[in-house]
Amino acid sequence: MRGERVTVVGGGLAGMSASAFLGSNGYDVTLIESTHKLGGRTFSFYDEETGLTLDNGQHILAGWYDNAFEFLKTIGKEPKFRSNPNLEVYFREPGGGHYEFKAKGDNPFIAVAKGFIDYHPLTLIDKYHLLSLRELIELDIAERLLRGKNLSWLLDHLKQTENLKKYFWEPFVFAVFNTSPEYVDASIFLNVLVKSFDKFGSMSLIIPDETLDELFVAPFEKYAAKNINLMKNTKALNFKVSSGRVESVMLEGGAEIESDYFISAVPFHSFPGLFKEDDYRKYFHGVEGLKPASIVSIFIVPEKMPEGFNNRFYHGMIGLLGTKAHWIFFKKDYICAVISAPEYTVDGYDEIGNDALCDTVVSEIRDCFPEFRDIGIRRVKYFREKRATFLPSVESAGCRPDNSSGLSNLFIAGDWTNTGLPATIEGAATSARKCSELIMKKN
Ligand SMILES: Cc1cc2nc3c(=O)[nH]c(=O)nc-3n(C[C@H](O)[C@H](O)[C@H](O)COP(=O)(O)OP(=O)(O)OC[C@H]3O[C@@H](n4cnc5c(N)ncnc54)[C@H](O)[C@@H]3O)c2cc1C
Repeated sequence: MRGERVTVVGGGLAGMSASAFLGSNGYDVTLIESTHKLGGRTFSFYDEETGLTLDNGQHILAGWYDNAFEFLKTIGKEPKFRSNPNLEVYFREPGGGHYEFKAKGDNPFIAVAKGFIDYHPLTLIDKYHLLSLRELIELDIAERLLRGKNLSWLLDHLKQTENLKKYFWEPFVFAVFNTSPEYVDASIFLNVLVKSFDKFGSMSLIIPDETLDELFVAPFEKYAAKNINLMKNTKALNFKVSSGRVESVMLEGGAEIESDYFISAVPFHSFPGLFKEDDYRKYFHGVEGLKPASIVSIFIVPEKMPEGFNNRFYHGMIGLLGTKAHWIFFKKDYICAVISAPEYTVDGYDEIGNDALCDTVVSEIRDCFPEFRDIGIRRVKYFREKRATFLPSVESAGCRPDNSSGLSNLFIAGDWTNTGLPATIEGAATSARKCSELIMKKN
């Protein structure tokens, strides 16, 4: 039955992965992307003022990103990663406080336990309360216990102290879930925790040593040239639905593509627009309840970069504590400061203004890193992705649809679908993997 036609709408990570998984299994795949470029939310751009190619925001991967690595393998990409199989994280706070968390060793539980023992900002009482974590991971009732609960509730339930929250949970939650614990569904948190503890290397953090275009988009384009039909600058208007299945997809300009199967791989805010109102109401509901969360990246180009800063800390990555910027990434020529969902995490964000926020972040860097106090700043660029992720709160995440749909030959991919993971590269690749498997099972 292979050779059947599949049309994928949306050329982000999910659409590219689904196309690759199905293309490599003998399907006749057409990928439709509305813009002139692939990659969706993973893209790079050239900043004329500095001559630097920047990503739309720093992307980090983790050792448990199995489906994302499978995608790279499928398209024949040998990634340039900087990583370490152990978990190593560095923190600084204004005034000079600096801390290191290192979980080293083959057994993830023992490694993390040792990491906490040596993690200086924690008191003995803090460390004692961490013991309840293992129980949570191994408890059969965890899933039932967590249903409808947010992570703030869970941390309180596990008697996690304010110190633990400030020095460990919050920075971790900002990085993985792009918001603060009160907006995180505790079940999604548990899924990530279980995956991180799965095996040696799972909790490793991976920093790409190339741009997002070099890592994902260019290798996929090369793969696509031989294996799939790629249509860029082509907007899908809507799916033509009849008798419980999709017959074709209508394109801007009047063309129509018929197929045996269809995959929607557009973001959640574009999904309802792919259907006539009656069809949408008949076959879907709730997607409108998903809420977005933004990411602010502030790119700072100093007059000169202190020697070797991009290799210090964990490959240039360091968490800031008690500051507006959450994570800092030192690159060869510039710094990328990341603020996760400031509309949820920064008090009074709406009134601050972009320039004032940039000034604050530059001051925070100078406060935390004395090496920058006497170095002038050549350029500061503020960049906000308004719909960087979906908000993983109980209410919002409760609106995620499954990868199969009420239409027998339509499947839904995207980081926002019901994979149990947060909005990540791995969430997008996992949704693509699930859609591909569902199509393959039909034969
Ligand atoms: C600043 C930033 C930092 C991030 N950091 C991390 C990180 O550190 N680690 C991590 O794992 N994840 C991170 N993410 C999340 C990650 O980028 C996303 O989860 C992932 O890229 C989503 O991929 P997707 O394919 O589901 O959606 P998208 O990338 O949004 O792709 C959807 C595609 O569909 C196209 N489209 C829409 N409508 C139509 C239409 N009608 N017809 C045709 N095409 C259409 C769009 O143009 C787009 O190309 C970050 C995201 C941002 C923005």
